[in-house]
Amino acid sequence: MYARTQNDNGTYNTRCLYCFMTIASAVETPEEMDRLEARHVCPEKALAQMSAERQSHPQHAVN
Ligand SMILES: [Zn+2]
Repeated sequence: MYARTQNDNGTYNTRCLYCFMTIASAVETPEEMDRLEARHVCPEKALAQMSAERQSHPQHAVN
């Protein structure tokens, strides 16, 4: 999930909606944004996956 905005000069910015980190700014093509978004390793998403995993496997919980 990414929020893309376009600048006045026609370039794009893209921001992750999970961690609200700006992934890239002044990107010239949507193809380039696809590439940059795919490369983003989201800390928030990783945390959410971890806690979901913990809930479905409570016996593996580590305190
Ligand atoms: Zn993110």
